[in-house]
Amino acid sequence: MEDSSQNFIKNVIGLVNNPITNDDALEKEFSDMIMQSFSIEKINFLNIYKKIDSGQEYSYILNSKKIFIDNELSEYSTFTKSIEYKNKGYRSYAVIPIFIYTKPVLILELLSTQKNKFTQEAINAINLGAFLLSMNLLQRQNIRLMDKLGTYFNVSFNLEIPQLIVDSNNKIIKSNKSAINELGIDRLGNDLNSVLGIGFDSAKAFKNSKIILNNNIYKVNSSTLNENTAYITLTNITNSEILENMLESIEASKNTFVMLLDNNLNIQEVTSNFDEVSGKLIIGKNFTDFISSSQKNDFLQKLSVLDEKNSFEAVGDLSLLINEKPMFIRFSLKKYLRGFIAMLSDATAEKYISDIKQDFDEFMKNTSDMVLITDELGFIKSSNICIESVLGYKPNEIIGADIKQLYVNTDILDRDFKYARNNGKIDNSYITLIKKGGEKISAIHFLRMLKSIDNSISYIILIKELETKHMIEGQEDELKRQKNQIRKLIAASELKSQFIYNISHELKTPLTNIKGFSKLLYTNEFGELNSEQKEYMKTILDETDRLMLIIQQVLDASKLDANKIKLDMKEIDFNSLYNTSTIKSLEDAITNKGLKFQWKTDYDVPKIYADPNRLMQVLVNLIGNAIKFTEKGEISVHIFKKNKRNIQCEIKDTGIGIDDDDKHKLFKKFYQATKKDELVQQHGAGTGLGLAITKDIINLHKGKIGFESEKDKGTTFWFSLPIKQKAA
Ligand code: ADP
Repeated sequence: MEDSSQNFIKNVIGLVNNPITNDDALEKEFSDMIMQSFSIEKINFLNIYKKIDSGQEYSYILNSKKIFIDNELSEYSTFTKSIEYKNKGYRSYAVIPIFIYTKPVLILELLSTQKNKFTQEAINAINLGAFLLSMNLLQRQNIRLMDKLGTYFNVSFNLEIPQLIVDSNNKIIKSNKSAINELGIDRLGNDLNSVLGIGFDSAKAFKNSKIILNNNIYKVNSSTLNENTAYITLTNITNSEILENMLESIEASKNTFVMLLDNNLNIQEVTSNFDEVSGKLIIGKNFTDFISSSQKNDFLQKLSVLDEKNSFEAVGDLSLLINEKPMFIRFSLKKYLRGFIAMLSDATAEKYISDIKQDFDEFMKNTSDMVLITDELGFIKSSNICIESVLGYKPNEIIGADIKQLYVNTDILDRDFKYARNNGKIDNSYITLIKKGGEKISAIHFLRMLKSIDNSISYIILIKELETKHMIEGQEDELKRQKNQIRKLIAASELKSQFIYNISHELKTPLTNIKGFSKLLYTNEFGELNSEQKEYMKTILDETDRLMLIIQQVLDASKLDANKIKLDMKEIDFNSLYNTSTIKSLEDAITNKGLKFQWKTDYDVPKIYADPNRLMQVLVNLIGNAIKFTEKGEISVHIFKKNKRNIQCEIKDTGIGIDDDDKHKLFKKFYQATKKDELVQQHGAGTGLGLAITKDIINLHKGKIGFESEKDKGTTFWFSLPIKQKAA
C-alpha cells in the first residue's frame, strides 16, 4: 500500500513537470492516475477557476478546510449529495479540498462502489498529489497573467517617440524633442546618415524595421510626405523586447519546483527543472542555508507549528540566494511521510510585474499624455487627469461614455479595436479628436487589448496630442495676418483707382480747351501763322492728342479696376466693321508707313453680341501696337469661326517680335518691353496700359486673349469671343 502511494506521488511530480499545455488534459491525466493507482471508479474535479457549484456540502467543506470521508453511505448520511450517490450504487465517498496560500483552488470528489475504500494513507497521498497539480495550474494562470501584463505595459514603454522629417539630400529638416534628446541631434543641419547610419532612400522604406542605436532597439516606420520628404518615427522597444524575452524564459522554465526534505530540512530530491537553476549542487544541503539570516527565524517559527498528522501547511515568501543567484520565491511546506514536501514557485517575475504595475499606476498619474481604459464595447472605464488639459473633460465627466464620441473618424477607431482584439498592437495611428467645446485636434493613439484572468476584455488607449497642432495654430495666425493685409491693400488700391479716375477726369476738361484753341490758332482762325509758328503749333496739337490718349487710357484702366465699366452690348457684323472710319484711318497709317494691309472675315462668321465701342478700342490697341512695332512687311487681320461656341480674331504683324523674357509680363499694367529700345524714341513712349485694358475688356466679354511671337519675325495677337452672348 505504501508503494502505491509513493509511486503515485512520483507520477504526479512527473506529470507537473511534463509540458502539457492544456489544463484540461492535465486534469484528465491526473484523474486517470488516481483511478488507476487506487482503483477508484469515479472522480469529480471541481476547479475553482472553472464553475464551482457551491452546493451546501462544498461550502461546509471549504469553510471547515477539512477532508470529508464517508466509507459507508446510507440513508442517514450527512449530506443530501451522499444520499444521492448512495442511490446511484456507490458505497464510499470522500471530498478533498485543496488550498494554496490559504485560498481554495480545487475540490476533489472520490467515489467507490466498495465499502471502506478510502484509507487515511491513500487520501493523504491523493491530497498531496492534488496539491502539486493545483500549484502547477495556478502557476500556469500566473504565467498567463504575466503575459497579459506584458502587453499592458508595452504601451507605457512606447511613450516617447522620436520623430524626424528628412529630405532627399539626407538632411534632417525637422526633429522633435525626444529625437533631439534620445538620438543626440542638433537642432539644425544634421546628416541622416550620421544619425541612422543610412540614407534617404533606405529610410523611406522603413516598415516596422528594427534598428539598434546607442544600445537601444528601435522600431522604425516611415511615410513619404512627398517625393523629397519622408516622416520617420522611431519607437524605442528596448524595454518591451526585454520583457518579452523574459516572459519567454519564464514560460520555458516551468517555474514551479518541488523538493523533498527530510525531517531536518536536508534536501533529498528536487524536480529536474530545478537543476537548471541550481546546477545540482543543492541536493544534500540544508534548505535553511539558502534563506537569508533575517528571514530564517521567521521561517523556523512557521515550521515548528506544523502538525505531524494533519496536512497543515506553512506558507510564505522568501528571498533565496542559490548559487549566487537571487530568487524571490513563494513556498509552501507540507508534512509528508517522514519529512517535508516543499513547493517552491519562482515569484521573481511576479514581483517584477507587481513592481511595474506600481510603476504603471504612477505613470498613469504623472504622464502628460492621455490614457483611457475602455470595456469591451468601448465604454470608458477610467481616464487619467490629462484628459482635462487635452480635451477639456474632467475624468468623471467622461467615465461611462462611449469613446466614439471623442473621435471624428470612428472608422479608424473601429479598425484599431478590431486589430487589437486579435492581439495586434496599434502604434502611432493618426486620429482627430473632438474637444469638449467641439474644437478638433490632431493626435496619435496607441491601443492594446487587456484580457483579465476571468477572460473579460478591456482596451487601453494612449493618446498623444501632435506637436503639429501648435504648428497649424501658428499657420492659422499667419494666414489671418496675411488676409488682413490683403484686405487693407485692396482698400488702398480701390482708393487709388478712384483718385486716378477723378484726377484724369479733371485733366480732360482743360486739355480739351487747350486742344480746341490750338486747333483754332493752327487753322489760322486768328490770323496767318508763319511757317515756324505753324510747325510748333502742329507739335502742340500732336502732343495734346498723345496726352489725351494717355489720359483716356489711364481713365479706362482705373474704370476697369474699379469695375466701373458697363458694357453696352449690340449685334456686331465683322464685315461692316471693316468699313468704319476708325479702321480706315488705321489702314491709312499702315500704308503710309509702307506696309501692306489685309482684312479678312470668313464667310461663315456669325454676328455676335459685344460692346462696339469697346471692341473697337481692342482693335485700335492691337492694330496700333502692330503698326508701332513693325517697320517692314505686312499687317493682317483675320476673323474666323474657331468652333461652335467662339469666333476668333487674329492680328498678325511682321515686326520686331517679343522677347521670351517679356512674354509673361506683357498684360501687366505699365509694362513696356521696348522701354529701353530706340523704338521708344521713334514711336513715342506709350503708357504700357493698352494691353492691360484690352485684356480687361475681353475678359468682360467672357472671351480670351493671347499671342504668339518670335523675336525679329513678328507677332500674332488673338482674341476669341463667345458667339451665344446675348445683349446685356
Ligand atoms: P504701350 O502703350 O507701351 O504700347 P501696351 O500695353 O499696348 O502698352 O504694350 C505693352 C508692351 O508690349 C509694349 O510696350 C511692347 O513692348 C509690347 N508689344 C505690344 N504689342 C506688340 C507687338 N505687336 N509687337 C512687339 N511688341 C509688342
